[in-house]
Amino acid sequence: MSAKSTTASGELVSLQRELERIFASLGHGMYVVDKERRIVLWNRAAESILGWREKDTLGKDCREFIGHLDDNGEQVCDKTCPLLDTIEKSNTTYAGIVWAHTESGELVPVNVSCAPLLEDGQAVGAVEVFSDMTHEKEVDRLKSTMCSVVAHELRTPLTSMKGYLELVLGGEVGDITDDQRDFLTIVGENAQRMQELIDDFLDTEKLESGLIEMHWEDLDVGSLAEQSLKDLAPAAQEKSLSVVVELEEVPPVQGDRDRMKQVLANLVSNAIKYTKEGEVGVRTYVNGEHVTVEVWDTGVGIPKNEIDRIGEKFFRASTAAKTSGHDSGLGLAITKEIIKKHDGELRIESGTGKGSRFSILLPISKERKVMRNPQEGSNE
Ligand code: ADP
Repeated sequence: MSAKSTTASGELVSLQRELERIFASLGHGMYVVDKERRIVLWNRAAESILGWREKDTLGKDCREFIGHLDDNGEQVCDKTCPLLDTIEKSNTTYAGIVWAHTESGELVPVNVSCAPLLEDGQAVGAVEVFSDMTHEKEVDRLKSTMCSVVAHELRTPLTSMKGYLELVLGGEVGDITDDQRDFLTIVGENAQRMQELIDDFLDTEKLESGLIEMHWEDLDVGSLAEQSLKDLAPAAQEKSLSVVVELEEVPPVQGDRDRMKQVLANLVSNAIKYTKEGEVGVRTYVNGEHVTVEVWDTGVGIPKNEIDRIGEKFFRASTAAKTSGHDSGLGLAITKEIIKKHDGELRIESGTGKGSRFSILLPISKERKVMRNPQEGSNE
């Protein structure tokens, strides 16, 4: 071997060592898989976050170790494995915060993103980088707990204020003038709005943290939808809206009666609230493996570019602000969570000035999975 090539190969070896040192000392957990998702590299941070040692993982299928779960305890890897996605599309995938199994059987929240290892533009494997989010999750949990405590504490004085207000308005403590009645009525309406906001907020928190107990039974969603429309018919009549009911006979679906009523009441009351003229309606039909319940209207609609954000907490479409100024934007966040708990889906079709169609797809299933909250931990 010539002196030149000896120097070149020496440089290569030292470059490789340098890369290995960088890889090992990265603060983020990191591992590399080949096309079959077999682990070929595993760094020290991955060892310290997840507990698995490099020597135990090399050459093994990554799903034997990590197994990412979503917030409902469902395996992400079974549905949309971010590594596989990255390899198939030769593209970077951001999986967000998921729960990873540790060697001791606990679950750790990790923020995951994956990038392809490219050779001639084709992925021959992928790199997953992840960071431990335990602290952030804990801060999040404390923030939620604090907000819930404050909301609970606000409820008690509010109930008392409303009670005394009713006594004054009812003339129990003497006559009041017309002006006083008008002003106190406004106070009462605002207290009521505040109570609804607090209740919605507490509902969202409970649903998100999995603390709401669901009571499963067979439901006839058609008659529940019709009932919601009947209950809210006076509000529709007040605006001279036509009410349309198109119910196909549908099989029962498993659901929680009160929660499903809450969902339908929210959709129907929105349909009426955001419609000035024309009609509102409900429709049910079977759609493959699902029963679909549609609530539609000929109202202000939602701009197409805002539809994806509907259902985010406190988000209100630009069309809504012109129609009703004071609502919270929490109703659909609750609706979406409840539908998710039913293994269902909410679809929205709309456009500015074109009315809206909200469709709930609920699976026709005989058995219901027991949902597990990953935050309760798992040793399976
Ligand atoms: P809100 O209390 O603001 O009505 P929701 O969470 O029920 O809150 O709805 C969120 C937003 O979705 C509303 O502010 C509105 O922009 C939009 N939206 C919901 N339903 C309709 C509808 N039927 N027509 C038009 N916009 C709607």
